[in-house]
Amino acid sequence: MDEYNRVVGQQNVYAIGDCAHLLENGEPLASTAQVAVQQGPNLGRNLVKQALGEPMKPFKFQYRGDLVSVGALDAVCSPYGWSVFGATGWLLFKWVYFSKMPTMQNRFRLLSDWLLHSLQGPTVARLHYNGQSDGANEPQPGPAPQPVAAAAAPSAEPNATDRQTSLGEG
Ligand SMILES: Cc1cc2nc3c(=O)[nH]c(=O)nc-3n(C[C@H](O)[C@H](O)[C@H](O)COP(=O)(O)OP(=O)(O)OC[C@H]3O[C@@H](n4cnc5c(N)ncnc54)[C@H](O)[C@@H]3O)c2cc1C
Repeated sequence: MDEYNRVVGQQNVYAIGDCAHLLENGEPLASTAQVAVQQGPNLGRNLVKQALGEPMKPFKFQYRGDLVSVGALDAVCSPYGWSVFGATGWLLFKWVYFSKMPTMQNRFRLLSDWLLHSLQGPTVARLHYNGQSDGANEPQPGPAPQPVAAAAAPSAEPNATDRQTSLGEG
């Protein structure tokens, strides 16, 4: 892409969001919603300018921070360099998500989804880490550890290191 989100070598083909590969300071912009929602209005205005015969404005990404949900009522956020976390971060995460949702219809569907989710619980496809170890990696009482060569010998025991976390329906 060039700085107008135009596909290089094409006159009237543009791409934004996840299907766009745009370099800024030599680095590709990440495939994130934050990039996509800034590219959309920029390209929309540029298409109007193009139709009016006016010069287009190059796209410049404005980094505004990250929002990461880390569980029920918990999120880690860095809006404009600030640090917000816990339940406050979670509320901020939800508010930004909601406010960026286009059209009232989509917002209503989103609210309905959140409400249903809180009543029904997560779907079966969602893996949940309960934060507890099953003890597989804890030091066990018993004989001293064997040398590496001996420890690597085949064993009928299941490989304990494959059970590092307890996954289950949450
Ligand atoms: C699991 C997951 C978690 C993520 N978490 C984050 C996050 O925390 N923060 C963040 O910034 N980004 C996150 N992202 C990335 C973010 O979702 C994307 O960067 C963003 O949605 C890209 O927007 P887009 O408009 O380019 O594509 P999309 O949002 O994918 O929109 C493309 C739309 O086009 C539709 N479509 C596809 N083919 C056709 C067709 N042939 N005809 C008509 N319509 C079609 C699709 O149905 C879809 O609605 C996450 C992505 C995933 C998958």
